[in-house]
Amino acid sequence: AQEIGGTDKEVVREYFNTTGFDRWKKIYGDATEGVNKVQLDIRLGHSKTVENAIQMLKDGGPLSGVSVCDAGCGTGSLAIPLAREGAIVSANDISAAMVAEARRQADEAISGVEGLTFPKFEVMDLEGLEGKYHTVVCLDVLIHYPQEKAEGMIAHLASLAEERLVLSFAPKTLYYSFLKRLGELFPGPSKATRAYLHAESDVERALEKVGWRVRRRGFTSTQFYFAKLVEAVPVA
Ligand code: SAM
Repeated sequence: AQEIGGTDKEVVREYFNTTGFDRWKKIYGDATEGVNKVQLDIRLGHSKTVENAIQMLKDGGPLSGVSVCDAGCGTGSLAIPLAREGAIVSANDISAAMVAEARRQADEAISGVEGLTFPKFEVMDLEGLEGKYHTVVCLDVLIHYPQEKAEGMIAHLASLAEERLVLSFAPKTLYYSFLKRLGELFPGPSKATRAYLHAESDVERALEKVGWRVRRRGFTSTQFYFAKLVEAVPVA
């Protein structure tokens, strides 16, 4: 797999272990105190992406016993509900703080529930992932990858998946590129990492290069959050 640029990756790791961890834990949580309007809006948008991804996966059949890799799991927003569905989840993230929080939340939500397998949480970057999974899911992580690195990462994630790969990314369209530029003109303290948008056609081309095709698509947008969701499967 290609490496995301050394400095970029170090910046992302550092961010998600410190200020980014505090910000995103709040956005992905349930509490409303101290959460501003923009953050609440992003929470809503992200929860729709998670919901749509779970629905996409369930439409393919029951998840009980299905091995799923949640690449870049954050606080476990996807890993925990998947484990609740009976999936055998491997969840990993570059940020140790995120992984610890995901494990804590899983402990609270599903520890000791009969018939469920507690997710295997690991501090690991996407590049370091190995093995084979029935399904690989990677939600809202590609935003940290410039297109030239994203292509290699998509190929790497596809190589880990036997049956399907579900990805979400912020789409690069004229309109969203404009909004992003606008956002960059007013940098807030929380915008500590660069964000990269990806054209759907580029994502699709990266999949096609390694023999995969997009089978289903979804899209979520709220005022401040927008994400395309694709489910890809091997061509043959
Ligand atoms: N997938 C989760 C979700 O949708 O709830 C979290 C999304 S959050 C916006 C992005 C996550 O990607 C962060 O937890 C961050 O630490 C992780 N991340 C960024 N670059 C990564 C990399 N190279 N390898 C693994 N995780 C990475």
